[in-house]
Amino acid sequence: MDRRSPHPYLVGLVGTGVGPSLTPALHMAEARAQGLDYVYRTIDLDDLRVAPTRIGEVLAWARAMGYDALNITHPCKQLVLEHLDEVDPVAATLGAVNTVVFDRETGRRSGFNTDTTGFAHGFREGLPGAAVDSVVLVGAGGAGTAVADALLRLGTGHLTIVDLDVERAGALARDLAARHPLAQLDASSFDKLSVLLPDSDGVVHATPTGMAAHPGLPFPADLLGPRLWVADIVYRPLDTALLKAARAAGCRTLDGGHMAVYQATDAFALITGITPDARRMSTHFRSLVAERPEQP
Ligand code: NAD
Repeated sequence: MDRRSPHPYLVGLVGTGVGPSLTPALHMAEARAQGLDYVYRTIDLDDLRVAPTRIGEVLAWARAMGYDALNITHPCKQLVLEHLDEVDPVAATLGAVNTVVFDRETGRRSGFNTDTTGFAHGFREGLPGAAVDSVVLVGAGGAGTAVADALLRLGTGHLTIVDLDVERAGALARDLAARHPLAQLDASSFDKLSVLLPDSDGVVHATPTGMAAHPGLPFPADLLGPRLWVADIVYRPLDTALLKAARAAGCRTLDGGHMAVYQATDAFALITGITPDARRMSTHFRSLVAERPEQP
């Protein structure tokens, strides 16, 4: 449904530390280009001194103040679930929501997860035809969880999850196995990567390593070879040390901008009913990152 309407859109990003987010600028520039009156504000719970556990109240306030939708980020993606009227199957499987849309007439709250759909969308666009039968995921945090679910939806039959916190990797593998019974899910430790990577089609990196504040490689570059594709979800900077090393080793690569842009395009479509111009949003996103590469 095209929700193009004479009354302006009001959208928020709720979470902690959301001030530097590029998402408001990204949505508003695309909306301007689409001829929409669209305001997107950050709602930083730390600044407001509102505990994340009060996310249900935040939804009620937002709705009362005329918000059409909210993007939800750390640490509220799971907390928000119990405050929704309906949750789409992708978000329900994942147990995490990053987009809430309010029905304009009834106020019903519908939850979605465009981190998952965004990674899958960006992967298909950026690494077309890449084999996904056997994949290693490095990083079992919030973003890694969304990526894992997306990989299984893309057809990964064997996913091995590696994290410094092996317990966390194990818990995610067990959780995903229950939700995706046809796939083989394993957890492993960093020291096994030398055995795992040569037998895999690709590796997705989802820890903070490679960001300006955490420079360096998540694992030794000599584990990379031309048979492997390498996807990094870190996007500040876009060209991480891992991606540079992967290109030097002859790997196909995918940068974190794809996931970041497509989580926004998918959210924009849910909020407005209008399919945004993904290429235009990607170009804009990449110019924003180039202007502000150091921010978290
Ligand atoms: P998180 O803190 O929830 O999880 C990070 C995980 O990485 C943890 O399980 C931690 O144990 C592990 N880890 C930390 N340091 C490590 C190291 N040196 N080696 C191995 N494992 C390590 O964080 P998150 O929300 O999952 O985000 C991870 C990164 O993903 C962020 O830093 C951000 O750059 C990126 N991200 C990208 C997008 C996108 O759209 N492209 C979206 C969200 C997050």
